[in-house]
Amino acid sequence: MLQEVRLLHAGDCLIDASELVTGTPEGTLVRVPIWMYLLRTDDALLLVDTGMPRECIGNERIFAAEEDGDHILPQMSEGDTVDRALARHGYAISDIDALISTHWHFDHAGGNRLFRGKPVLVHPAEVESARGEEEIPFWVDLGLDFRPVQDGDAPARGVTLLHTPGHTMGHLSLLLEPQGSQPLLLTIDATYTARNWTEDLPGAMVDPQLGMRSVARLKEIARASSAAVFFGHDAAQAQEERWRSLAG
Ligand SMILES: [Zn+2]
Repeated sequence: MLQEVRLLHAGDCLIDASELVTGTPEGTLVRVPIWMYLLRTDDALLLVDTGMPRECIGNERIFAAEEDGDHILPQMSEGDTVDRALARHGYAISDIDALISTHWHFDHAGGNRLFRGKPVLVHPAEVESARGEEEIPFWVDLGLDFRPVQDGDAPARGVTLLHTPGHTMGHLSLLLEPQGSQPLLLTIDATYTARNWTEDLPGAMVDPQLGMRSVARLKEIARASSAAVFFGHDAAQAQEERWRSLAG
């Protein structure tokens, strides 16, 4: 059974408003939080995502040379690495039994390479996409112990993986059903913010049509399970008491 869920804040990122909500004019940077999630079951400790790569520390211009590089400015300090975020909750990387890697963007997979030798649960489409890239991003480590997962897989009772392609092709969201409390739906980057969700506005997606189908499905799942929904990068939501208490 899933006993406890914690939100681990792993720094922020300044992102152009046009990336958060497609169709918004360029030119306004918005500060959004970056998350990892710690899941404690009866017999295992699972980590979801690993935040940004440490090369981003104090280096907000790291992507400046890339297309849209001025749209993404990491705000990372030494305390935002995966090991330091875990340490704040009393854990070390060595305590983690398995990593669930939702997708391989820099703000979700930046610390994955520290999990060599541990099982890394990932959708095969994410691995295939990376292998098909002309240039594999520096934070992507293809030497990890990948355990391919499919839609509906449950690595523990109360932890269901949902394949929600669109943002990336192998993107995963999670339905969490902790013992004795309300289910939680982690959209991850299928939906960035409450506004994307309520107004059906896509954020950055490799396949917007597919992405919006994934969002429609997540809405069905949220309704059917009466889950509270936590969005991937919603600064205002993170200030709400119920989520702050999970961030401890
Ligand atoms: Zn993200």
